[in-house]
Amino acid sequence: MTVQGIIKKAIKRLEAEGQILTPDFYLEAFCKEAKIAGMIVEDCQHVEKFTKTLNKEFQKELTQYRISSMSELTRFIIAKLNRTNSSKCAEILDAQTILIKRVFQVIEVLHNREASELSRKSIDLISNSPSAAQLEQLRQLWVNFFTTYDDTFLEDLKVFGKIDSKDLQNSVKNLNLSENNSSMKSGGNNLKRIASLLISSFVPSIASSVNDKIASLSRKIMENPLLLDNVSIEREIKNTILLRIALDKKTVNDMVKSLDGVLDKLSVRLIDMIESSDSSNADIQKIKKELEAYNEDANKSFQFAHKKLYTIAVALEQNTQLLSSDLKNHNGEIELLSQKIRKLENELETTRKESKEDFLTKLYNKRALDELMAIKEAEYERYGHNYSVVMFDIDFFKAVNDNFGHDAGDAVLSAFAKILKRDSRSVDIVGRFGGEEFLAILSETDTDGGFVFAEKVRRNVQKARFMYKGDRIEVTVSGGISDRKKHTSLQATLNSADEYLYVAKHSGRNQMAYKK
Ligand code: GH3
Ligand code: MG
Ligand code: MG
Repeated sequence: MTVQGIIKKAIKRLEAEGQILTPDFYLEAFCKEAKIAGMIVEDCQHVEKFTKTLNKEFQKELTQYRISSMSELTRFIIAKLNRTNSSKCAEILDAQTILIKRVFQVIEVLHNREASELSRKSIDLISNSPSAAQLEQLRQLWVNFFTTYDDTFLEDLKVFGKIDSKDLQNSVKNLNLSENNSSMKSGGNNLKRIASLLISSFVPSIASSVNDKIASLSRKIMENPLLLDNVSIEREIKNTILLRIALDKKTVNDMVKSLDGVLDKLSVRLIDMIESSDSSNADIQKIKKELEAYNEDANKSFQFAHKKLYTIAVALEQNTQLLSSDLKNHNGEIELLSQKIRKLENELETTRKESKEDFLTKLYNKRALDELMAIKEAEYERYGHNYSVVMFDIDFFKAVNDNFGHDAGDAVLSAFAKILKRDSRSVDIVGRFGGEEFLAILSETDTDGGFVFAEKVRRNVQKARFMYKGDRIEVTVSGGISDRKKHTSLQATLNSADEYLYVAKHSGRNQMAYKK
């Protein structure tokens, strides 16, 4: 069928359905007809295309509501949008979180260790934006807690009066422990029970033994529960409980101390092992693992941790013994090796001292320059051979280092050294005097000749393209020249070159200066 045919059919359909010819209705009718005709029209695919991008639940709703046109889809989405209020959701969520936290905080201070720990865990988790899986895990822990929670101890109390399991305060009131309570006065079973309850609270929870004082008071009360009615015993009971606490504290202290001792021993052993061995890596790893496990267990029980640490310490002791015997066996070899190393070190030191070459530029170093100048000086004194010295100093070299890095600075020094070497004659002596200072010693040359040489170097440096990693570095050099004849000593000659170098720097750099 042609498009024209479909258009006609669509209009007919609208007429038959009694619809008015609006663009929306028309498009809907047109698409229906196109579908019947098996023609794929892009404008009719919009609903389908957008529907696919929605999540599964929305898609389900769309089929439920039989949404087939764009206008219906738009209306549906607008309705959805109007109903969602994200800021309100967040507000409710925040409020809920805070409420849950408060509830946990309340549980945390109640006297049930397990519940307190679980609460603390829950607060921590909630404060750290937990994932759904983490929340589920926590929920499971709470389920475990309340399915195993045992409140039968409340049953035991019932004999004393009415127990209100919802309110412990009321329960205590109901115990009727007032002085005019007749059952109390007559002694009997109830008082006995209270006595045994009290005595069990004297028993230290951590310390393993009961002190004589505690034992004697326990016996006294057990034999005559009526004593509880006596005011004078109150102080004794208080003191006994304090004693109990002190005993527990002392035990904890002792345990911690003994653990400290073991840990000290352990660390010494570990250091020994690490220093004396290279093969014990695996052993150390094992020990590390054990120590990690120790950390996890430590909270659970002091004694358990104590025992474990002892085992580790013993293992370490055996290990170090093995290692030290191993070490003794190899002692000879080690001694030989260290002798070799010492010899090599000495040789290296001698070579370093004897070296005449600057490590960076391969020119003469300061030591060599000093020796060679001494020879020149001797020749001057004996034969009157004049010589001149040129002191070069690269301009603004600090800026090269600062702007391009120290490596670039080094590269410039090497490049400058090459120019200096290339521009000098084979009888000339060139070397690095220090940092970015270079010295040339020119035989049979006065300051005029020295100036010609120095100028040549200066010009060539200025012309040279110093490149470092694609960067062009502008380099210039200044210098001071002096000759021996004009001075009284080698030192005075050097001083003069230095002085004129200073003059060159202060006259604008990139120039050579000497006493005319
Ligand atoms: P001026 O024109 O006055 O000579 O300026 P300058 O920056 O060259 O002067 P200064 O003497 O203050 O700076 C010399 C710099 O040379 C400082 C130091 O860090 C650097 N330098 C010395 N030896 C070396 C080296 O072997 N390699 C590198 N890259 N830099 C060095
Ligand atoms: Mg300098
Ligand atoms: Mg400089």
